[in-house]
Amino acid sequence: MASGRAVSPVLLALAGVIAVFAVALGARFIIGRDAPKMETVVEREAPVIAPASPIKAPPPKVAEAPPPPPPVREVEPAPAPVPAPPPQVTEAPAPVPVPAPPPPPALTPKPVVAMLPPPVAPLEPPKVGPGSPLWKKNALPFRAPPGKPAIAIVIDDMGVDRKRSNRTVSLPAPLTLAWLPYAHELPAQARAARAAGHELMLHLPMEPSGSADPGPQALRVSLDKGEILRRTKAALDSFDGYVGVNNHMGSRFTADSAAMAPVLGEIARRGLLWLDSRTTAKSAGLTLAREFQMPFAGRDIFLDNEMTVPAVRSQLAKTEQVARKQGYAIAIGHPHDATIDALASWMPEVQKRGFVLVPVSAVVRAHHTGG
Ligand SMILES: [Zn+2]
Repeated sequence: MASGRAVSPVLLALAGVIAVFAVALGARFIIGRDAPKMETVVEREAPVIAPASPIKAPPPKVAEAPPPPPPVREVEPAPAPVPAPPPQVTEAPAPVPVPAPPPPPALTPKPVVAMLPPPVAPLEPPKVGPGSPLWKKNALPFRAPPGKPAIAIVIDDMGVDRKRSNRTVSLPAPLTLAWLPYAHELPAQARAARAAGHELMLHLPMEPSGSADPGPQALRVSLDKGEILRRTKAALDSFDGYVGVNNHMGSRFTADSAAMAPVLGEIARRGLLWLDSRTTAKSAGLTLAREFQMPFAGRDIFLDNEMTVPAVRSQLAKTEQVARKQGYAIAIGHPHDATIDALASWMPEVQKRGFVLVPVSAVVRAHHTGG
């Protein structure tokens, strides 16, 4: 019984020890399971973080790749202008070494040329073809600028007083100069006048109402139609290059419609214009010109019935008034000193006041083409 009692405490102790071990083992077993779970989680995160950095690197590289292309396009235009300046710089120094002044003038004309185109166009002269009438072929290549009052100055009786005729030719162009058919060396005088830029006319002598002498071979109402036509043709053939005809004197002859008809008929047949000097209000010239449907015009002002500079200046002022009112004016003067002196100072002034000086053909073309 004692041994039983002795064994039992040992067994109890062993059992206790076993129990303790058992508990310890159980606890370790349980703890061991939790521990590995924690470690494995940590290890998984670690490797994930490590590869994350290399993965992040490539994406930025891809992002950087696309942006470059657009900036390249913007850069392309830039390089183009850059090479341009160098050649200019090299050209500039080249001319500089020899003459310093030359280079600047070469640079200034370039911008001026760019601004020239507009003003050139409006003054293009009217076109003349082989089928054009003679008055257009012989007209000055002149077209009046639109919107300005035009003044045609006609000087009659040209060619007889050589000294004053030459003074008249020396006046600024364009004048319209009407030559007497009996002037000495008429073709040469007329050619010189045309070369100086003036327009030409034939100044045809006709019978006046008074006792004044119209000159040799003048047209008279007493002549038969054949002689009137013969004298007319002879006068028309005395020179060439003129645009038309106006009458010298003729206050009696121009008032006779029957006498005037063959004269204007021949002028029209040759393709020339008629300028009626209006030495009489009864002139049949304009009425006949309309009937013949030929180009014509009529005188508005006589400049030198009184041969003093102030008187001529006064008539020139009246000419300006007419031009402002009807858009144009035709004034007739003569190669007198007073007339020439007055014109010499007036011609530059009138253009500054906005008038344009034109040959008589420009007035006829614009206002009296006569159908
Ligand atoms: Zn005359």
